[in-house]
Amino acid sequence: MDEVNFKDKKVLVYGWARSGKAVYRLLEKLGAQVYLFADQKPDGLPDDVDFISEREFDDSFDFVVKNPGIRYEKSLLQHALELKIPILTEVQVALDQYKGEVIGITGSNGKTTTTTLIGKMLKADNVDVEVGGNIGTPVSELILKASDPSVFVLELSSFQLLGAQNIKPKIAVVTNLFSSHLDFHHTRKNYLRAKFSITQNQDADDYLVLNGNSEDCRRFAAESKAQSYFFSADDKSVNSYINDGSIYFDDEKIIDLSDIVLVGKHNLENILAAITAVKIFGISNRAIKEVLTTFTGLEHRLEPVGKIQGRTVYNDSKATDIEATERALASFDQPTVLIAGGLDRGDDLDRLIPSFKNVTALIAYGQTKEKLHSAAQKAGVKNIVIDNDLKEAVFSAKKISQPNDIVLFSPAAASWDQFANFEIRGREFKKFISGKEGWQ
Ligand code: ADP
Repeated sequence: MDEVNFKDKKVLVYGWARSGKAVYRLLEKLGAQVYLFADQKPDGLPDDVDFISEREFDDSFDFVVKNPGIRYEKSLLQHALELKIPILTEVQVALDQYKGEVIGITGSNGKTTTTTLIGKMLKADNVDVEVGGNIGTPVSELILKASDPSVFVLELSSFQLLGAQNIKPKIAVVTNLFSSHLDFHHTRKNYLRAKFSITQNQDADDYLVLNGNSEDCRRFAAESKAQSYFFSADDKSVNSYINDGSIYFDDEKIIDLSDIVLVGKHNLENILAAITAVKIFGISNRAIKEVLTTFTGLEHRLEPVGKIQGRTVYNDSKATDIEATERALASFDQPTVLIAGGLDRGDDLDRLIPSFKNVTALIAYGQTKEKLHSAAQKAGVKNIVIDNDLKEAVFSAKKISQPNDIVLFSPAAASWDQFANFEIRGREFKKFISGKEGWQ
């Protein structure tokens, strides 16, 4: 789609989350007449924001800019489609205003970690870079900042990709392709199509970094015009691989695994993806090493909380499903005291049984506590404790863990039975670990 000139155009912004706010201001700056719509009128709207009701939406509008998470089934969007009013997303509007290079990262898992690693590696080599998109700062907000960096490193969700037909990264990264968000995309085919749009405008001067273990990624490579690079933690026939305890890129040794401080096998894939992207970009091995020897990961994702009385404690509150807790448990060979539990979505927690092999004690709380208890019993876990809440669970962990144990908080459930979100849950955990009311 060609670049859009928004001057004097009438534009409806749909949604007042952080990206909606940013794009509203960006559109104003571009000279558009901007209006806001949201399913519920937000509290505390600034006086200079023009909120309209659905009834006031008509064919006088030139564009709708919707929040990426809003479904196209919504009546206002259906109305816009009937009126043939183009529906854009914030990322598309913002990228139209940006002439620098983009490194775009998508995938089912590992987007935030990979995006963060790439951003840090570029910064460590003094590249003028901004990091944002689906994490932290929306692209419009990056554009509104006065400086004009040479590179944007952007995490892009499938929702954002669907609505950004102008996206053309210099380097696109697909971490992996599992079946997620099928409620929004309906079919896996649609989901893959959304993800493929990260490369749809790329040409032979661009690069596509893909997971070598994924059949779907291999298919992406065949269909894309960009130069494809593969990474894999188990296959040595790709561009970035592991051999004899070290990471290689195109047969050049980059770093020994023993020097990397980020834990988790899944994170090795994210590291390989990041190394591939930044080596293509021309980043030095020194900068790569600087990041990998210091970056211990993001908050709530196997986050090291510290060593207390000989136990090493991790906060993995982001583990809101069984798969995430399986990955967390697969990251450690030492005896592990697992604290888990949360909202009961009806999942079969017996699926965790094979992952319990290093679990010496399970402390379960929340709605899923009985199911976890039963799974741990079947797995032969010797020590099982049922508690009412996270604070009690931390007390129990203190009582039953031994020096040299891993104490892992990886709930395998959403937080909403007892917390507003996984971030608050993770912070509470850390508070109980370090505070007087809990462990200390
Ligand atoms: P995203 O931004 O895609 O949600 P994150 O980097 O925030 O990904 O990681 C979130 C969780 O996803 C992690 O805690 C971990 O359980 C899982 N994860 C991360 N990277 C990978 C990967 N490469 N493969 C499989 N799972 C992963």
